[in-house]
Amino acid sequence: MGRTHDVIISGFDLNILESKLLQVTEQRDELAKALKEILPLLPTASCDMFHHSKKDRHDYGEECKPLARYNSKIKKAEEALMINKV
Ligand SMILES: [Zn+2]
Repeated sequence: MGRTHDVIISGFDLNILESKLLQVTEQRDELAKALKEILPLLPTASCDMFHHSKKDRHDYGEECKPLARYNSKIKKAEEALMINKV
């Protein structure tokens, strides 16, 4: 990382920030790797696999909210992996 100048601000240490950024980036990469490995192992879900709380109960043929939430979380995880290109 090139620097054209250093700015001195009391209590501010760029080296500490860069070190923490590196640490957090490594943690992110490990989590992304674990997520990438677990996603293909998740079952294709169906309505009967979920507990339905009172507010989530529905008739046959109506949208299954627990199933929709499950699929939405998987999609978000896949999108996050694509964004981070891990
Ligand atoms: Zn359902």
